[in-house]
Amino acid sequence: MSSGLEDLYREIILDHYRSPRNRGELPVPPAVRAEGFNPLCGDEIVLYVNVDDPSKGDAATVTDLRVGGQGCSISQASASMMSAAVKGKTIAQIRDLTTAFKSMMSIHESSLGGDGEEEDPAPEPAEVPQVDLGDLEALRGVVKFPVRIKCATLAWNTLAQGIDEALT
Ligand code: ZN
Repeated sequence: MSSGLEDLYREIILDHYRSPRNRGELPVPPAVRAEGFNPLCGDEIVLYVNVDDPSKGDAATVTDLRVGGQGCSISQASASMMSAAVKGKTIAQIRDLTTAFKSMMSIHESSLGGDGEEEDPAPEPAEVPQVDLGDLEALRGVVKFPVRIKCATLAWNTLAQGIDEALT
């Protein structure tokens, strides 16, 4: 990776950290509230997710979402990027985006284990949906720092929780 690209990625991450998108809360209900915590780093993410019609399942749309919480720049920038990327998308599109992002992040995730505990295997390249990750590409460099991968994936795991709850 060229240093020019790394500089650009750093700038995008800092921009989202300093000017987080979709910051705030939504009334519950109709929104659902989901909380995630990364004990490795002390990161906390609180999401408020509005879905138009839960009965539509994966065809339902996330009409609005807001982000609260606090933590390191990677966790908060990732949450901001995630919120901008999934707002207005259907649950099916969000699942594809989540799979693509986690696949980008999972390159070194297995090296986090080491105690015999197996995480879900990364999807085979053929199974990874072809989606444009946009600003999320900026987090690609995080895989070089395995302890920070959980910081980057926290918002996405919290979103998955929120969607599960919204659809039940
Ligand atoms: Zn962190």
